[in-house]
Amino acid sequence: MERLSITRKLYWEEPYSKEFVAKVSSVEGQAVVLDQTLFYPRGGGVACDTGTLNASKVQETTKADDKILHTIESPASLKPGDKVKGLVDWERRHRLMKMHTAGHLLSSLFYTRANCRITGNQIDVDRSRMDFNLESFDRTQIEGYVTEANELIRRDAPVKTYFLKREEALKLPDMVKLAEAAPPAEAQLRIVEIEGVDRQADGGLHVSHLKEIGQIQLLKLENKGKTNRRLYYDLRSANPNRAADSLLQC
Ligand SMILES: [Zn+2]
Repeated sequence: MERLSITRKLYWEEPYSKEFVAKVSSVEGQAVVLDQTLFYPRGGGVACDTGTLNASKVQETTKADDKILHTIESPASLKPGDKVKGLVDWERRHRLMKMHTAGHLLSSLFYTRANCRITGNQIDVDRSRMDFNLESFDRTQIEGYVTEANELIRRDAPVKTYFLKREEALKLPDMVKLAEAAPPAEAQLRIVEIEGVDRQADGGLHVSHLKEIGQIQLLKLENKGKTNRRLYYDLRSANPNRAADSLLQC
């Protein structure tokens, strides 16, 4: 009986690598499955990686069951067993890593300061969105959390990932902050920890130090029902000269 081959997640092992070599496991329609990949598939509200496989553009990366599917322009150019060189669009990837880690900081502050939970999120390149349940809606309060998150970034802290046995992880009260999505039924959970700040069960990609994020910029706040709030944010560089410039212009 043929064993189901699972793609090795190079993006977990070396999230800062930009290129890799892999072997084609199968070609399914427009999509190519590889024995290993650096391409992060769309999931958990986070946008996917794009880039190239040999000369072919990777338009999107998705996940179906255990398979990571690279949708490419010309799948006919590849067949099982072929060696390919993959190149990740690094600017996009790094921005998603920063956006995602910023989301952790915000969700952690919402949770610890206001006991509110994240009900949905969309981490993307241009701007990111986060939904949370908070009964009384106070703009100053939210702005305060963003300021606090930026202060944590200025102070900097390492971001680590490691695996814990599921039952051990779930004993930790702060582990699962997402209101709806419980961690998947796996024996080992991947933990993402911002040292001294936050710990979550999470399969995404993050920067290794908070400083890389720059600064979080609150774009917009919306009411989405009785207790549902929506926050849009972007990132900007933390260059102190730039901050001084913008103050002068006020
Ligand atoms: Zn994450």
